[in-house]
Amino acid sequence: MHPSSIAIDSKLPRVGTTIFTVMSKLAADCGAINLSQGFPDFQADPALFDATWRAMRDGRNQYPPMAGVPELRSAIADKVAALYGADYDADSEITVTAGATQAIFTAIAAFVRSGDEVIVFEPVYDSYVPAIETVGGQPVYAALAFPDYRPDWEQVRALLSPRTRMIIINTPHNPTGSLLEADDLMELAALTRDTDIVVLADEVYEHIVFDAAHHQSVASHPELAARSIVVSSFGKTYHITGWKIGYVLAASALMAEFRKVHQFNVFTVNTPCQVGVAEYMRDASRHLGLAAFYEHKREFFREQLRASRFELLTCRGTYFQLASYRAISDRPDREFAHWLTRAAGVAVIPVSVFYRDGRDDRVVRFCFAKQEATLAAAGERLRAL
Ligand code: PMP
Ligand code: GLN
Repeated sequence: MHPSSIAIDSKLPRVGTTIFTVMSKLAADCGAINLSQGFPDFQADPALFDATWRAMRDGRNQYPPMAGVPELRSAIADKVAALYGADYDADSEITVTAGATQAIFTAIAAFVRSGDEVIVFEPVYDSYVPAIETVGGQPVYAALAFPDYRPDWEQVRALLSPRTRMIIINTPHNPTGSLLEADDLMELAALTRDTDIVVLADEVYEHIVFDAAHHQSVASHPELAARSIVVSSFGKTYHITGWKIGYVLAASALMAEFRKVHQFNVFTVNTPCQVGVAEYMRDASRHLGLAAFYEHKREFFREQLRASRFELLTCRGTYFQLASYRAISDRPDREFAHWLTRAAGVAVIPVSVFYRDGRDDRVVRFCFAKQEATLAAAGERLRAL
């Protein structure tokens, strides 16, 4: 140990360890079934490993270009054109990142100055506000209200100020599983028209939308696309959250600023994984099949809980299911999540952690990106409560 007497004026005085790390560790310590942190407990496709291994064997092991290997950027450009009718230039408008978290942090660092305001929607994914605060920005909170978690654009309009520099949206939404509709994008476009507001669109669950809904990407909306940084993650799409690889789309002027920070933040992302993903994603059925794959898991998990006392909320996308536990307990949700992990052997995420004031609707989040055997074992424990 190295005792230190220097005075540290923390930039993030209220931030501790992320809830995902805390709950996954508690799950491991208790031997509980881990439905807390969002990651699959099944293996990715061996074809992806083969492609990556081939890239290593072929000597693709040195620094790639700063923005990403050309074959991956061109595969992304083709996917985005096919799905969203959007024309992003692979050279100047697409950058490969070390996952979405880095992309989000880099985008915020590139555009938000000290004193700038950034509108976020609560419940808010846990990385946004610390990133804003690290660079001296001021988070401004709009609400996605329980239980439908729909945005209220009149409220957002009222929150706009001359200092609003950025609005961060997330669809499909973690933790609520709600989606933005085409009308929402129209509202957002109208709100930001004639301003210099940058939209940061976290679309990491773009391929996980259910009940025949369509993912409304800001990339598909030309007016919004011109002011937006769109973020996606291969971790979610190809079951490789530990590879930490994703990408950003943005109009070239925005992308030029993004890259100024990116090149000194990570410089570039590991080469063989980029080459492997580039080859793998050329078969579009691999990402297009994801919605049906997870819809099946959603149904399976909901069926497991049907005879339980949890009340399931609507889940339109992502691999997260929210549930109210009011009929089981009146404990605050953090306490309930800890108790559930220790006593019932199922780890979950308390949703109050996604609110600045700890608002607690007595709702927890289950991750159903798990094998059916895992979901069935959890179901048995949860029905017993
Ligand atoms: N945004 C959202 C909404 C997420 O759920 C996650 C990860 N679960 C991320 C960003 C981060 O993605 P990555 O693991 O690629 O950094
Ligand atoms: N985004 C994942 C989740 O919501 C976790 C990622 C992380 O642990 N930072 O569970």
